[in-house]
Amino acid sequence: MRRISAAEGGAWPLPGVERLVPAPGSPGSFWEDRGDRRHCGVDLYAPAGSKVASIGEATVLEVGPFTNPRSVPYWNETLYLLVEDEGGRFFKLAELASAEVRVGDRIESGQILGRVGSVLNPMKIDDRAPAYIRGLEDRGRTAMLHLELYASRPESSERYRGGNWFGPGRPRGLLDPTDLLIASSRG
Ligand SMILES: [Zn+2]
Repeated sequence: MRRISAAEGGAWPLPGVERLVPAPGSPGSFWEDRGDRRHCGVDLYAPAGSKVASIGEATVLEVGPFTNPRSVPYWNETLYLLVEDEGGRFFKLAELASAEVRVGDRIESGQILGRVGSVLNPMKIDDRAPAYIRGLEDRGRTAMLHLELYASRPESSERYRGGNWFGPGRPRGLLDPTDLLIASSRG
C-alpha cells in the first residue's frame, strides 16, 4: 500500500484526546470482521462531548442522521457529516452528538465540526446484541468517532447500515483510512 506522509495526514480529528488508532484486526479497525458484517471505517474512542475537528481543508456536502434506536434498539441518535477535501477525498465523520457546520460550508484544517456522541445505549445491550457490541460495552467504549474514507462520493446501499457492510462485496470507492490517521496522530 502507498505510504501516506504526515502532510497528507492533516490534523488529528479529536483535539485533546489520546491519539490511538486501532491496529488492523483489532476492535474498531477498518474492515473488522464482526461476524455478519464488516466495519466500513475506523473507530476512534473518545469521551462523549469531545470536539471533532476537520482533518484538512474541505467542503461540507451532507449533514444528516446516522443511527437511531428505532432501527437498532441499542443505538442512540447520532449524526454524520460528509466532507470533500481539496484532494477529492471524501470523509464521513459519524456517530456525532451535534454538528457545528452546515452543508456548503468551507472548513479549515483543525476547525471544530461537532461533538462526539454516545452511539451505544448500555441499557439496551443484551445477549441478543452482536458479540462485538457486548465487548465494547464491557470496556466502556460506548462513545467514539466513526470515520470513513472514500475515493468517490459514497452511494447509498441497503447493505450499508450504521457504518457496517452486510453481505458480499464492499462499498464502491471505500478506502482504508488507517495510515492517514496514523500520520495525523504524529502531526
Ligand atoms: Zn465504527
